[in-house]
Amino acid sequence: MSILIKDSKIVTQDEKRRILHADVYIEDGRIIEIGKISTEADFKIKNRIVMPGLINMHTHVPMVLLRGYGDDLLLEEWLQTKIWPIEAKLKEWHIAAGTKLGLLEMVATGTTTCNDMYFFEDVIASTAEKFGMRCYAGFSLIDFDTPEMKREKLVPCCEEFLKKWSGSELITPVIAPHSTYACSPETLQKARELQEKYNAFVHIHCSETRSEVYDVLKKYGRRPPAQIAAHGLLNEKTMLAHCGWITKEEVKEIARAGAAVVHNPVSNMKLATGGYAPLPELFEANAVVTLGTDGAASNNKLDMFETMKFAALIHKHHRWDATIVKAQQVLDMATINAAKFLGLNAGSIEEGKIADVITLDARAVNLIPSHNIVSHIVYAASGFNVKDVIINGKVLLHDGNFVGVDYDAIIDEAEKAKEDLVGE
Ligand SMILES: [Zn+2]
Repeated sequence: MSILIKDSKIVTQDEKRRILHADVYIEDGRIIEIGKISTEADFKIKNRIVMPGLINMHTHVPMVLLRGYGDDLLLEEWLQTKIWPIEAKLKEWHIAAGTKLGLLEMVATGTTTCNDMYFFEDVIASTAEKFGMRCYAGFSLIDFDTPEMKREKLVPCCEEFLKKWSGSELITPVIAPHSTYACSPETLQKARELQEKYNAFVHIHCSETRSEVYDVLKKYGRRPPAQIAAHGLLNEKTMLAHCGWITKEEVKEIARAGAAVVHNPVSNMKLATGGYAPLPELFEANAVVTLGTDGAASNNKLDMFETMKFAALIHKHHRWDATIVKAQQVLDMATINAAKFLGLNAGSIEEGKIADVITLDARAVNLIPSHNIVSHIVYAASGFNVKDVIINGKVLLHDGNFVGVDYDAIIDEAEKAKEDLVGE
């Protein structure tokens, strides 16, 4: 498949963060040329803002089925009366339906890579591969029976999952021990053994709430980051979701270890966790900082544009300092920083890179006048400004329309799954 994007503003996210006015030619999954180009192509696009596809580093894709189900409750009540009873009923077809809906929303709003963690991860991985989404698929390890299997089967099935998906172009298998409060030291140890054996990424919730920090401290004598480190899991292949209640010393330890922090400002605010990843201190320590939406049950969207805006605003507001987190830093978190951490040859628009590329409507009313494109992307744009989405060189959205995706069938299937789960 070949794609020619003409007469567009290119937010390259290259080393110099250049903004170019140029054409982009894509073929066989790669960005082949940037410049003045006149050649034929299967897809022609013009007059756009072109930028790297967004990377959502923490989500639970099928939880879109629980969007808006049980809002405005305290966290414990929300989990116990709403989320867990529904999750206990989940079957494979619900997961497939929810995953498709989540992928549809992510593509519509410009996400080209997601880092997922849930149950039935093999269903999620297969669905994402078929859909054409790049997915780091996290197989959950937890000390309870899951809706999918008994707890004793989780580690061997995770190992099978790692073997099955290694070498896939779009899917990267990930080990996802849920958290230090839901995983015993033995489970964390097993996760580490698998990480070493398969050189795999680990994705774990870390210090999301204050009560989690004190519960883990009381039970194990260590706070969550130290508990993760004690089992060899604080390393350059580990992604720590949230880190909302970490100390300045923990910031330095995480930075030294090279683990990635995933900041989820919208979910943290909606669940009223009080704390969120301390970006200014993380930046100062040169930590890897990335962005996620978390699941749609606690967001309630998978729109990374909204998450970028909140990521900037929450810190400015809290620290009484409008200079503290800048638009360019936030855009880096959602693109090149995440790609570099993942070892993914994408995250910027440069010749030779994998073509994970999105475009925005350059004439959208909320993006005019065009003073500063990076500012517009972070503060003014919405996911619904996205016009074209290209993943691995394949067009999934063209001029706002899905290509090769049955939109209505996905919407109907999601509504059917919701009726089956909630009964209304
Ligand atoms: Zn989460």
